Amino acid sequence: MDVTGLTAWGCRELLAKREVSATELVRAYLERIYRVDGRIQAYLLVDAEGALAAASAVDAKAPGERLPWEGVPIALKDILCVKGVETTCASRILKGYRPPYDATVVAKLREAGLIFLGKLNLDEFAMGSSTENSAFQVTRNPWDLERVPGGSSGGSAACVAASEAPWALGSDTGGSIRQPASLCGVVGLKPSYGAVSRYGLVAFASSLDQIGPLTRDVRDAAALLDLIAGRDPRDSTSVGLAEPVGVPDWGGLDGLRFGVITELGGEACEPGVQEVFSTAVDAIGNLGGMCEEVSLPSVTRGVAAYYIIAPSEASSNLARFDGVRYGYRTPQAGDLYEMYVRTRSEGFGAEVKRRIMIGTYALSAGYYEAYYAQAQRTRTLIRNDFARAFERFDFLISPTSPTVAFTVGERTADPLAMYLSDLCTIPVNLAGLPAVSIPAGFSAGLPVGLQIIGPHFSEKRLLGAAHALEQYLKVERVPPLSEEAAGSAASRATREPAARVTLEDREVGG
Ligand code: GLN
Repeated sequence: MDVTGLTAWGCRELLAKREVSATELVRAYLERIYRVDGRIQAYLLVDAEGALAAASAVDAKAPGERLPWEGVPIALKDILCVKGVETTCASRILKGYRPPYDATVVAKLREAGLIFLGKLNLDEFAMGSSTENSAFQVTRNPWDLERVPGGSSGGSAACVAASEAPWALGSDTGGSIRQPASLCGVVGLKPSYGAVSRYGLVAFASSLDQIGPLTRDVRDAAALLDLIAGRDPRDSTSVGLAEPVGVPDWGGLDGLRFGVITELGGEACEPGVQEVFSTAVDAIGNLGGMCEEVSLPSVTRGVAAYYIIAPSEASSNLARFDGVRYGYRTPQAGDLYEMYVRTRSEGFGAEVKRRIMIGTYALSAGYYEAYYAQAQRTRTLIRNDFARAFERFDFLISPTSPTVAFTVGERTADPLAMYLSDLCTIPVNLAGLPAVSIPAGFSAGLPVGLQIIGPHFSEKRLLGAAHALEQYLKVERVPPLSEEAAGSAASRATREPAARVTLEDREVGG
């Protein structure tokens, strides 16, 4: 039996029945990573030694002493601080940085007994929609190795889709969990702003960032959310959830009203995506729900407002990377000023520099009112549009991404085309709402995701509805990633991973 095909719930049940040991489970994933990740390149770092040590500690415990999720492996986007483990945000400027503490979500998972397999690739500092902005490697979409996995949590989405971990954590500032989940055919949940502590998540845009799960199914997403949610005195914006989500078990959608957001459908999306989206609308009807179009005029301004607000916050957050406190420092500098300038010039990639410049400009005294203040007003309009829509609807829906996965290199030369990848997801972050992307079908063999948006802190109901749809749609989750396919001509052309931990040197065989 191939345990790497399991959901996290599946792993938990096998461990509980003692049909598999934590060590066997971890070994199976390490072998899988060793077999396929040379082609997928989802992992920046594989902590084989740490994972195996944690697994044998779990196996040494008596069954009665174990916590419910103890021994289940997980992988983390490399923007989450793990004590003593290199955390790079896929940036040269953080190469070699080992945080002296765990992010709150990491500490919570550690306490629950989960085992960390390693750190996953992303766009540098989570800025991007394809994971091509990583300073270290390009992650490939397991459904088609010529295509991107989406981003910025592309490593997390590809890793779960390719069964290199049962589940993973990502972060979402403007769509970075949902969009890659959609492009890789997995489930991705962005929690309500404040549901999950951001302590130890390297900050990109603090008023938008949230950590959330990328999983094989909705049940796993609910479980992982329950493991990480909660108020945290170290993040004053965190409030947690009023009640745990529990196990989603809705079988139908009787009497529920779904608003189809006019501005995010139709012409805004490519025909293949629209087609799959309308099958999802039909499914809602068949499950007893009601769908009706609703216009949210302000959401068309979401991308524009976001690309002022997010870079403004980023320009401030990224000021701390100066060569003094973290990671990289230029080897050649005459004085302190030159050291700052050279470190930042050499350490940051092009997209990060672009954002820092835009943000600094938008916040400067002469332009603050014209850009930043205007973007904040737009944000309020978007928030109000959502609030009005939720007076009439239980949930709002749209495609998650206007297109299926695009080819590597297709949008790198055109930042605006790249920014538009998040047309449907960005307004949700600006309003602080929870939203989930679930696989809804395929267009030309590539996954298409459905985005379901709920009112603030409605995660329990949101995942209930997502579960009902998931059960009805029954979309295939496993890409045809045979070892032969993984070794196809296209993938052979990719270079060997930069930061691969020497799995080859270790005994990982069972
Ligand atoms: N793609 C968007 C950006 O580049 C969103 C990224 C994210 O959610 N972290 O900013």
